[in-house]
Amino acid sequence: MALVVQKFGGTSVGDVEKIRHVARIIADAYDKGNKVVTVVSAMGKSTDHLVMLASQLCESPTGREYDALLATGEKVTTALLAMALNSMGYDAIGLNGEQAGIVTEDLFNRARILEIKTDKINKHLEKGTIVIVTGFQGIDSQGNITTLGRGGSDTSAVALAGALGAERCDIFTDVRGVFSTDPRIVPEAVKQDKMAYIEMMELARVGANVLHPRAVETARQADVMVCVRSTFDLDDPGTRVLGASIMELDRSVAGIACDDNQARLALTGVPDQPGIAAEVFGSLAEENISVDMIIQSLNTENTNDIAFTVSGTDLADAIRVLEKVKAHIGAKAISKDEAISKISIVGAGMIDRPGIAADMFRALAKARINIKMISTSEIKISCLVAQEQAKTAVQVIHDQFFPYAKEPAETLVNEKLGY
Ligand code: ASP
Ligand code: MG
Repeated sequence: MALVVQKFGGTSVGDVEKIRHVARIIADAYDKGNKVVTVVSAMGKSTDHLVMLASQLCESPTGREYDALLATGEKVTTALLAMALNSMGYDAIGLNGEQAGIVTEDLFNRARILEIKTDKINKHLEKGTIVIVTGFQGIDSQGNITTLGRGGSDTSAVALAGALGAERCDIFTDVRGVFSTDPRIVPEAVKQDKMAYIEMMELARVGANVLHPRAVETARQADVMVCVRSTFDLDDPGTRVLGASIMELDRSVAGIACDDNQARLALTGVPDQPGIAAEVFGSLAEENISVDMIIQSLNTENTNDIAFTVSGTDLADAIRVLEKVKAHIGAKAISKDEAISKISIVGAGMIDRPGIAADMFRALAKARINIKMISTSEIKISCLVAQEQAKTAVQVIHDQFFPYAKEPAETLVNEKLGY
């Protein structure tokens, strides 16, 4: 008897009819002789609705009340789904984070799961009960309700799969899997059959909105295979996310992501002396502001310019910090540019293949797109471009690395067969 852990996202449980459909998927897995644990998100956009309600009543609600509010969305879905299964004649029970034994750190809004006490869930499973668990939440050491951060239900599901010893965790969503890029930008984007954990983690970090980054990290640590698949196309096997070592890397680039929520900041006329970078980035780190691309260029008369990117959400805070630093170190000016996008290519197969960066730059050059900043890591290359050129940039880079996506299917088959 296998243990199946499934997670259904907001669009999959968006209305009563969809909840009924999800109940049938769960019942089907159960009828095949599996023990089933299902994690659910809040219905449709109901978390956004809760955020909106809060903002109408209070400018900065306490973390505790905010989490208590946001956690209610998942509770609604959990109870409704258990009812749907009950009405179909199945024994199902809904558990909230506390009842499911999900213990988090003492931190609101973005708590990490520390431990899952699985005895309660296991007892229900032993009796043959289907267990439905609220995603995205747990309980801290003081008994407060905590949430894991927006999109956190993926993490709940994967952590449960790990703690319960499930081999895989199916993440059901409204797309057929993980694509080479956002199909809304590039219609011929291809679905990937397999992705490595490290690729998914990088893609999630650079703006691909498929899986919660911490879910992938948890999957890697617990060695749980994650399968991203569609609630509405059950014949499609979706994308499997697993360790790079067990997959053959026949492609250099796994995915292309575009992040519009970026801003570039520059501090000009910075004295060229030891300790300056430490002060600039140390002060930003103290305020919990993450910095991504960094360029330091040498000016004249012993001064430098330091430019870097932050997420658009952190921009106002970052400027506030920089104003203080600027006065303290005697820099000349601060400048900002918000009309930018970061385009990244990610692939574990890039490691031993030189020339990938040059291919990316060439594709942009041919489209006459100027690169404002570049950063690279072992499996990722990011370029900052003007926001108005971002979509074209993604398209031409996709054409470069996935040329076959544009060719007729027949050519593709022949090529694969080696004719
Ligand atoms: N309902 C939460 C959100 O919208 C958590 C999730 O769906 O993963 O962010
Ligand atoms: Mg999600």
